[in-house]
Amino acid sequence: MAILVTGGAGYIGSHTVKELLAQGERVVVIDSLVTGHKEAVSDGVVFVQGDLRDAALLDDLFAMHEIEAVIHFAASSLVGVSVQQPLEYYDNNLIGAHVLVSAMVRHGVNKIVFSSTAATYGEPKRVPIEESDPTEPTSPYGETKLAMERMFRWCEQAYGLKSISLRYFNAAGAYPDHSIGEDHKPETHLIPLILQVPLGQRQHITIFGDDYPTEDGTCVRDYIHVMDLANAHWLALKRLRETGESGVYNLGNGTGFSVKQVIDVAREVTGHPIPAVAAPRRAGDPAVLIASSAKAQRELDWQPKYADLKTIIQTAWDWHVRKPQGFES
Ligand code: NAD
Ligand code: UDP
Repeated sequence: MAILVTGGAGYIGSHTVKELLAQGERVVVIDSLVTGHKEAVSDGVVFVQGDLRDAALLDDLFAMHEIEAVIHFAASSLVGVSVQQPLEYYDNNLIGAHVLVSAMVRHGVNKIVFSSTAATYGEPKRVPIEESDPTEPTSPYGETKLAMERMFRWCEQAYGLKSISLRYFNAAGAYPDHSIGEDHKPETHLIPLILQVPLGQRQHITIFGDDYPTEDGTCVRDYIHVMDLANAHWLALKRLRETGESGVYNLGNGTGFSVKQVIDVAREVTGHPIPAVAAPRRAGDPAVLIASSAKAQRELDWQPKYADLKTIIQTAWDWHVRKPQGFES
């Protein structure tokens, strides 16, 4: 039996594929390469290039490979773009999940591990955020992710689908041997953007808002290493196999770092002064997002191994130095 990984050529998906292979799993990847990279897909994996919304392609795929469970990453995931283009986000994310789950039901596949997000909470009422806290997304992106979580739960009642939704906080870092890492074009995430300065690709990093109600006025986030996320997917799969219990779990380190603190750590790692320029706030950014991951630690037996921000940034830096233009280099 194999695990189907949708979006397995993307950033978090490709790292999770490596973790699955290391755990001895057989893996089939489906990815349209709309934002992913064929070069990110490990050897030894069956790779199908195609769109998740292609029901006939999924039927062929499920008929051809014995799929035990699905890990579902494939989605559009930029908060700002989703506000400008909500219909495209509903199309790719919700219709994608609908076509996928319909095919799973047709082919008798009843386990799914799902990439959800801290964006399902919106502006938090308190930090650290717990899974039972209110979910009031402030973007179409967050709305589609929450709707998918809920769709999976209704499908459990109707068809016996078991799901684990993993609400990631800020994914960062790269595979420790630097063979793969983050390569989004255009890049929007803070850490790779900061590292473009010492790489000579950018004059300075722009700080989006230094007037937030935080200690130094800049936004605070919970950065989590991509391999710790990858490992959580494997543990979630294991839990579905062993207990058949659906659930929702936050994944973060439980420690917040401000934008200024992240820049300081990047200066330390790279030895570069990294000039920073303050600019207005970016629309839709909550001041502070920090996860309580106590539930994942308790029920999934998950323990982040790369919790230190310096280590997270060091692995990202090693990857970008090796591949300054990303997979095209
Ligand atoms: P990514 O863009 O690198 O990966 C997504 C992959 O899905 C890409 O390879 C893309 O080509 C593929 N894809 C998209 N739509 C598709 C479709 N219709 N059919 C087939 N393939 C399709 O993104 P990522 O940063 O690796 O994020 C992966 C998942 O994790 C996403 O669902 C995202 O919403 C979620 N997430 C990411 C973060 C983060 O910090 N990066 C945080 C929270 C949640
Ligand atoms: N950020 C910033 N400058 C940038 C990119 C991001 O100040 O060029 C800030 C952003 O406002 C947020 C934090 O860095 O507070 C993390 O942003 P990112 O886009 O990496 O992740 P998000 O929290 O939006 O998922």
